[in-house]
This record gives sequence, structure tokens and C-alpha cells, in this order.
Amino acid sequence: MAHPTSGLTRGHLTRRGLLTASAAALLAAGCDGSGRRAADRVITGGPVYTLDRRRPWAQAVAISGDRIQAVGDRASLEPLIGPGTELVDAAGGLVLPGFHDVHCHPIEGRSGGGCLLDYDADAAQLVRQVRGCTHGGPPGWVVGAGFDVTRLTEGPRPPYELLDDAVPDRPALMFDSNGHAAWLNTRALDVLGIGPGTPEVTGGVTLRDAAGRPTGLLLDNAMLVHSTRLAELLPQDEYPLLLQSQDALAAAGITSVADARVFWRDPHDQLTLWRRAEREGRLKARTTLGLWAHPELPDDEQLAELRRLYRREPAGPLSVAEVKICVDGITSNLTAALLDPYLVGTPVPGDRGLNYFDAARTARYVTELERDGFSVHLHAIGDRGVREALDAIEHARRRNGDLGARHRITHIEYPDPADLERFARLGVVADFQTSAPGIDDPEYRRGDEPVLGAERAARLQPIRALMEGGATVTLSSDFDVGDLSPLANIATSLRIGPHAVPGLERAICAYTLDAAYALRQERLTGSIEAGKLADLVVLDRDILDRPVEELAEATVRRTILGGRDVYVAP
Ligand SMILES: [Zn+2]
Repeated sequence: MAHPTSGLTRGHLTRRGLLTASAAALLAAGCDGSGRRAADRVITGGPVYTLDRRRPWAQAVAISGDRIQAVGDRASLEPLIGPGTELVDAAGGLVLPGFHDVHCHPIEGRSGGGCLLDYDADAAQLVRQVRGCTHGGPPGWVVGAGFDVTRLTEGPRPPYELLDDAVPDRPALMFDSNGHAAWLNTRALDVLGIGPGTPEVTGGVTLRDAAGRPTGLLLDNAMLVHSTRLAELLPQDEYPLLLQSQDALAAAGITSVADARVFWRDPHDQLTLWRRAEREGRLKARTTLGLWAHPELPDDEQLAELRRLYRREPAGPLSVAEVKICVDGITSNLTAALLDPYLVGTPVPGDRGLNYFDAARTARYVTELERDGFSVHLHAIGDRGVREALDAIEHARRRNGDLGARHRITHIEYPDPADLERFARLGVVADFQTSAPGIDDPEYRRGDEPVLGAERAARLQPIRALMEGGATVTLSSDFDVGDLSPLANIATSLRIGPHAVPGLERAICAYTLDAAYALRQERLTGSIEAGKLADLVVLDRDILDRPVEELAEATVRRTILGGRDVYVAP
């Protein structure tokens, strides 16, 4: 495995620099006769799994200010316990570094309008569900989320007509469970001005009938661009949603998070909300924002705007240091980009999926953005999508050399086996989610066989191969597409057959130290070492000493960010 500490690059703290900073912190804190100051807090009473290779296990952690002052056995930390030291009892629970969720949608996870739809519902059931919740949502509209898009393309009736059955008199718009499709009724199509003459959106598909009339399903960037119009018509204050997400992150034990799609332009500007939360001291996790690269914008203008917004603060609370690029779509839309065609007809000519950003644009964006300091977070699912993402990073490397960016490709569902070795070679972080409901069910894992064939479908998420091939691999939630809980997602990552993570320790590393590396924070977070930030989680049990079957029942008892509790279980 490429251990994160092997990633030293120009501009980053060296190991020597970290030790010096740590010693300086201790000195600045004021010395007693022994030269060591009493700790503010000492956690004891439970095993400490540090992820520090030199000392993987300890019994106690001393905290001074926002930093870890010392790690060791109880006796060695005794001298740091003074009259003012707060003793925190882990009560037999495991102490871990705080979890890092490198692909999350904190704000979107709390939205969804008034109408929550069932992913397993068929078209008729969906119509009944929408009918049952027409009271919710913004005034004048019915808005909801959660359906499975394939359920609406099976039958003879166009989707808009089905939704008209449920909502005949008002505009209605439903987002699918993946955030890659929208379902509109006739009124909504009219209000948003989507008709036979509407030009196609770059990176999107407006499904149409033989006469060219939109059928009421918008895929990928067509959904995003048209629903941004909705934000204009129905401005929604997302700030309360952002604040709620902070409590959810803290309760899940997440101390560092990357928002994997931050809208930054009027009328949908989430960047301003994040900045406000930072200003008001409301953030409960160190936050890295991934600015959304809009496929429909002209490149020169967009790249200049993104450059202007860059700001990196490795210790947080808020960094604007990533750009999110969708290379391709998703298989359930038949829009994930493939080298060889789907086995079924698709709405995209050639049946090989679509690009939000084509190969040349992706290469240009990665090359220019890393010069500005950004790491690029690339969504790629199909084998062509993953290859183009890797090609873009390789292109940038040839042009720029190694600038220390930590690019990562996320999802990586069906990569060509020939491309796997490139992750380690190019230093690309491979990010996976095992958080979708049922993803560990063998039936679910064969779900794309009818459209991909057995050979391609069996490649789904080659996590183990990438880990064993030396790539840095992270696990993340993709909340609210998936479950937010790192513990639940770690449990699932061990149960996905031949591609499963080889061992619980590796899964924990993928959610802590390797994830800190992906966020360029591994000198500051991700393991429990003196001098690092005191970002810790205390579980209710020692998951490394219990059967893995018990893992999903484990809970977070306490989350500590920079030495202070941000969550204590009731
Ligand atoms: Zn996502």
C-alpha cells in the first residue's frame, strides 16, 4: 500500500516540521517544573487504535488545547493529569481518529422537498405516493425525491402523463434517488419552458418521444440545469439544512468532510452559506468544498471564476480547495460512459453513455486547476469514464510534474481491469461507497448484468484489487444517496464478496488516515499522534475485538473536534 506519509511533496509540512510544531505547541502552552504542562483532557478507560504505525495501540490520549499532547499507556500519561484536567472515560469503547467522509452531500442530504418516494416503488405505486403527499413542498409546487428512474421507463405511458395523474393542477418535480434524474409533469415542463424546441444541455439528456416531445424525464446535466431554474423560481433557504447537517455529521463521528458538489453561482449559491457557517462558528467538521464544474459554462470564464474562489486551509474549518467534475453519468440512466456499447438501446447515440465533460475538457480542467492549487474530485463510473479521468490526470502530470494535488476518482464502478494499476502509478486516490441500501446483496450486485453483460457487471467496485495493487483507497458515504454512518459503511465494505475490503483495519484506515491524505490533511488529522489535531471519536465498544457481524450495531458515544466535544450520545 502507498502509505500516506510517502506522499511528501513540495509545500507540505515535513515530518521534522510536524515534530517541531508539536514541541513548540507544548512550550508555548507554558511549562511547569517537569517541562510538561497538565493536559486539558485525558481520555482513558478504553483501547486506543491510533493508526500510527509506530504505535498502533495505546491506552490513553492527552489533549492540550486543540491538539493531541501525548499518546501512551495510562501510567506514562499520569504526570499530565493535573487538578484542572478533565478525565474522559471511554468505558471500554474504542477510541479512533475522527472519521473523514471524502464524498458527502451534507446540504442535499437534508433537502428533498415535501415528498419522500420509495426507491422500490413501481410506477403505479409512485403515482399513489405522490398523490399522498401533495400537501408538502414549496408553495404552488409539488417537489419530492427518492424514486428509481428505471421504473418509469418500463411502461407504455410517458412519465409526464403518470405524474399528471398524481398532480394535474400544479407543477410537480421529483428527483431520483441518485440525484441524476428528474421527473416532471406537464405543468412543470411548461413553467420551466421545456418543449420540443428546447436545445439539449451539454452532459444531459432530455428524454423525448418519436415526435421530439419531452417525456418528462431529465437525465444528468439536463436535470441539473433545468432544476437550477427551479431554484430561481422557488428560492429555498438552505442555511437551516446546512446547520442540521452539522449535527448529523458530528453524531456519525465525522470530523472532516468533503462536500462533493457545491454550487457557487446565483441563483443557487451554496458557497456563501458555507462561508456564513464558518463566520458564525457553526461548523462541526473540518470542511473541504468541491466546487461544481458546470458542463454548460464556457471554459475560460469558468476556470477564471474557480481560480478566484480557491482558498486552502488544511486545518479548516473551511477550505475551498477541490473542484468536482462529473466525467460521465450513471448506469441506471444508461449514461455511464462505456468503451463498448450497452447491451440495450439507450437515449444516447452510439449507446456508450455520455460525458458531462469530454476527455479533452477534463484534461484541460485538471491541468489548469492543479496549477491553481486545487485537487480535482472526478466522478467516473463506466470503463470509458474511468479511463478518461485517469488520462486527464496523466496529461496534467506530464504537463505540470507533481504539484502535490491529491486528485481522486470516485465511484469507479466498472473500470477496465487494465486501468487499475494506473491508480497507484499516478498517485490517484480511489474513492468508493458501500453505503447504498442493499449493496452487499449479491442480487443487487448483479443488477447491471442485463445492460452490461456478466463480465463487465462482475467488475463492480474492485476495492480489494486496488488496495492490493498499492493504490490509496478511501471509503465514503455519498450521503444522502447512501447511509451517512461510517460504521455502517465500513461493515458493508467487508461484505461485498470478492471485491470486499481485506480486513477491518484496512477499512478503518480508508475512513481515517487515507481519507485525511485525500484531503491533504494527513499531517494534521487521520491518526492519533502527539502534535496532531485532537479530532477523535469514542465508540460504544471495541469493534476490533468483537465479531465483525456486530459492527453495524456499534455506535458513536462521543465526537471530539479540536479537543472539544461536538457530540455526546444522550
Ligand atoms: Zn455524490
